[in-house]
Amino acid sequence: MKYVVVSGGVISGIGKGVLASSTGLLFKTLGLRVTSIKIDPYMNIDAGTMSPLEHGECFVLNDGGEVDLDLGNYERYLNITLTRNHNITTGKIYSKVIERERKGDYLGKTVQVVPHITNAIQEWIESVAKIPVDDTGLEPEICIIELGGTVGDIESAPFVEALRQFQFRVGSDNFALIHVSLVPVIHGEQKTKPTQAAIKDLRSLGLTPDMVACRCQEKLEHQTIEKIGMFCHVGPDQVIAVHDVNSTYHVPLLLKEQKMMKFLSKKLNIGEIDQSALTKGEALLSKWRHLTSSHDKSFETVTIALVGKYTHLHDSYLSVIKSLEHASMSCNRRLKIVWVESTNLEESMKGENLSEYHKAWHYVCQADGILVPGGFGSRGIEGMISAAKYARENNVPYLGVCLGLQIAVIEFVRNVLGIKGSTSQEFDNYKEEDHITPSVIYMPDVDQIKLGGTMRLGIHETKFTANTEWSKLKGLYGGVGSVFERHRHRYEVNPDLIEQIESKGLHFIGKDETGKRMEMIELKDDSHKFFVGTQYHPEYLSKVLDPSRPFLGLVAASAGILDDVLKRDDLNYRGEF
Ligand code: GLN
Repeated sequence: MKYVVVSGGVISGIGKGVLASSTGLLFKTLGLRVTSIKIDPYMNIDAGTMSPLEHGECFVLNDGGEVDLDLGNYERYLNITLTRNHNITTGKIYSKVIERERKGDYLGKTVQVVPHITNAIQEWIESVAKIPVDDTGLEPEICIIELGGTVGDIESAPFVEALRQFQFRVGSDNFALIHVSLVPVIHGEQKTKPTQAAIKDLRSLGLTPDMVACRCQEKLEHQTIEKIGMFCHVGPDQVIAVHDVNSTYHVPLLLKEQKMMKFLSKKLNIGEIDQSALTKGEALLSKWRHLTSSHDKSFETVTIALVGKYTHLHDSYLSVIKSLEHASMSCNRRLKIVWVESTNLEESMKGENLSEYHKAWHYVCQADGILVPGGFGSRGIEGMISAAKYARENNVPYLGVCLGLQIAVIEFVRNVLGIKGSTSQEFDNYKEEDHITPSVIYMPDVDQIKLGGTMRLGIHETKFTANTEWSKLKGLYGGVGSVFERHRHRYEVNPDLIEQIESKGLHFIGKDETGKRMEMIELKDDSHKFFVGTQYHPEYLSKVLDPSRPFLGLVAASAGILDDVLKRDDLNYRGEF
């Protein structure tokens, strides 16, 4: 196993995740099997209870792990399936060590950060790296480890120390370190001091960079590269410039141009790769090139209004954005997302800030399609309901994901079934004593008190119901009988209302394996372009080269090409999990 650690200096949030995934992809194009581990030095056990507005989206894995959004990047770039253990946090490591201590495993020793925590980290990495993650079912050959935060933070110290020891544990042939740094431009000059200081910090902790990846707005000038090489004690071929490019999908190609793989293959002493693996890798590279170059040449735009409640931090919807991008690439369209904070669509906004209200509605009305993504809590719900009503009544393509499905159902129950005031039991304004039938209820089998890791999580089967051949969504999934997608919810559509809702034209075209839980809705109305909702989150399984089908449907319908897309012969649904 060869380990490639990606760490960061200067500031966080400069694209370490994209760099790490792109490096992984390049190893894959050499024909190697790649896995990845993300280390998050925070105390939380997982990302499940963290605010999306603070940390960005919580990504969900097949096994139900609620993890950092970078794991989503890895799965998407590398087409792999990770487990919850691929995301290491301080909380997880300490729990494990404390559990062992309580069992008496340390035989009376004083339990300390060094060696007990640092050993636990190294053991964790070694065992998780071996888990097969791709379609070959074989042990990976390369493990990319991304260390979250910046080197020098108090919280990451035990991890940095563990990695320092790890390089000796696995041997220098099997360990490479890429340090990602920032080169700011001040008064037109590319400044190298922050990078010099970051590398000095790294070296003082016993880690030596094999490559320094410099994030910068413009291409790195030759003299900047030389200066970094000289002051950071690395050769010029070890300095990689990662300047801003058209899209993150260009980053692997940018790294390749700079011969990053040549250097890393030598450092890691990567031997002969068998011909069939090589051919597979080359095919992947050419597909990737084709996709990025043809996307650069598409000029028609499709505009999607994303009506959400965490729009102030776009990372809250990272997988949703990526899924829209994948779908747009597949439709040869440029994607324009207009961000609409759902509270701004509410009547009460008229009094508070009339111009924001008008602006928000202007965006919604101008868009080719409307997306209501997942979310929790009552703020902004009424705005989303109004957006869903607008989409249904005005033949505007609509996709509701998780909360977005629940919203579409509430809107339908209120405005078509006429049950005024019906809502979800999740929202504060639902009162038992009003005796209004709720549209959405608590799932009976879900813990209502403990919030961490207790939702309905991970991959589950959804079966298309009988007589759904008319369904566009089913067509998008290639006409299969069932699909496997990832979930994260606590509430579900009230089964008591199903018959009434269906009798008015909104059909539950997909249900769980018991037939009791509603998973997919679609408006059966030939005159509506596309009105669909999924209780699951299709965005978690969207891949660059295999876009998520509900998103493909939304984008294609919004671009006016859904009929053509439905005739495509590449709609075979993978059905794997
Ligand atoms: N809050 C809703 C529920 O728990 C929707 C969840 C979501 O959108 N992920 O069911």
